[in-house]
Amino acid sequence: MGSRTPHVLVLPYPAQGHVIPLMELSHCLLDRGFKITFVNTEFNHDRVVNALSERGIEIDQRMQLVSIPDGMAPDEDRDNFASLGENMLLVMPDHLEQLVGRINGSGGEKITWMVADLCMAFAFRVAKKMGIKSVAFWPAASATLAVLISIPKLIEEGVLDDDGVPRTEGMMINVIPDMPPIDPRGLPWNLTSNPELRKSIYQYLMNNVRETKLAEFTISNSFQELESGAFAYMPNISPLGPLFADEDSDRQTGQFWPEDASCMSWLNEQPANSVIYVAFGSTGILNRNQFRELALGLELSARPFLWVVRPDLTNTSSDAYPAGFRDCVASRGRVVGWSPQQKVLAHPSVACFVTHCGWNSTMEGVRNGVPFLCWPYFGYQFVNQSYICDVWKVGLKMSPGDGGIVSSEQIKVKVEELLGDEDLSARSLKLKEKANDNVREGGSSYRNMNIFINAMKE
Ligand code: UDP
Repeated sequence: MGSRTPHVLVLPYPAQGHVIPLMELSHCLLDRGFKITFVNTEFNHDRVVNALSERGIEIDQRMQLVSIPDGMAPDEDRDNFASLGENMLLVMPDHLEQLVGRINGSGGEKITWMVADLCMAFAFRVAKKMGIKSVAFWPAASATLAVLISIPKLIEEGVLDDDGVPRTEGMMINVIPDMPPIDPRGLPWNLTSNPELRKSIYQYLMNNVRETKLAEFTISNSFQELESGAFAYMPNISPLGPLFADEDSDRQTGQFWPEDASCMSWLNEQPANSVIYVAFGSTGILNRNQFRELALGLELSARPFLWVVRPDLTNTSSDAYPAGFRDCVASRGRVVGWSPQQKVLAHPSVACFVTHCGWNSTMEGVRNGVPFLCWPYFGYQFVNQSYICDVWKVGLKMSPGDGGIVSSEQIKVKVEELLGDEDLSARSLKLKEKANDNVREGGSSYRNMNIFINAMKE
């Protein structure tokens, strides 16, 4: 390695669950002597910087936060995966190229590697063009990448049609043993019934998978024993997780909303292993009925609870709370708009995690040995649920009843069942040990991280 600081550009896909793990990876690189340029879309950059300033956290000077446009107007719907993808492809490759050109022409440390989300694979093309090496990062379960990689084979075998739509109703995809079977209706493009949108999402993702071949490495936020079947199927994918922020530090973690840290002092006052933590990630939405049932379920459970109610968690205003619920919160609960989730899950008062099963939430629960009550609502979250409940056996499934609603009574009963299951709790702690062993010296994620870091330092 030369005497100059190695400089890496990091580019996440513009969604909360993609920005956070790449920010964590960036901190690992900072700790190992790298300089980072972290590139958000303008829209998300403003959210990240605002959240940092509201929390009074200074931006780490070794990590430059910069932004490029995503090609959409400020008020356009960025949850529309197809139109976001189309717009990004129109403008972002040029902006990325100009950004690298500016930095590398400025006389400072030149960018020599790019780490980009696999869903931003145009970056690998830009990197190649500019003589820079690149790494693809997969932030979801590696099993889901295995499925994406096998789509051409599944089409050839007639399981899916040429647009990735299942030919037979009710069939499940079982790419490899040890991996949960996947319902092809949960594949991202099959979540819409609009054929144009479906085609656009399908092509966007398949292009990404193809262009990833331009990257030198593909890494994922997982670990060997967690998904051994997936890694046997994809020996070229290196898991180096679980990635996590140091719980004791208050460094920038890429949150879009300012965390309400007051819940930590509240947690300090609760008995060990007593609190039900409820959070549905950055996009989960509950309708008014479900919101009320959940509130009533927490009330019925008669245990302390910490519930993350994002301003957009329910599409009605805050009067969705049932009468008397505020008194219940005052006596033994806490409701916050956005929590410091990693710190919450590491807190000894937390007994279980009611989750939508996003992959980051899953990894964070696993790493802290917290049993799960699974409440997925779309797509890949069902794969993660299946891993949690059927493969690792560290959680229980909610079973929505009439109208897809989980009743307050069921919430109470499932919490009791989960917390009374000593075998499940023992398995959770065992999995926690494995997760932590993986990132320690001698662990397989630790080794993979070193290989990747040493290559980038050469
Ligand atoms: N998160 C958080 N505070 C909250 C809720 C979520 O910090 O109140 C973080 C959580 O720790 C995780 C991310 O937001 O890192 C959500 O990612 P995940 O993959 O679980 O779900 P998504 O938002 O992508 O559906």
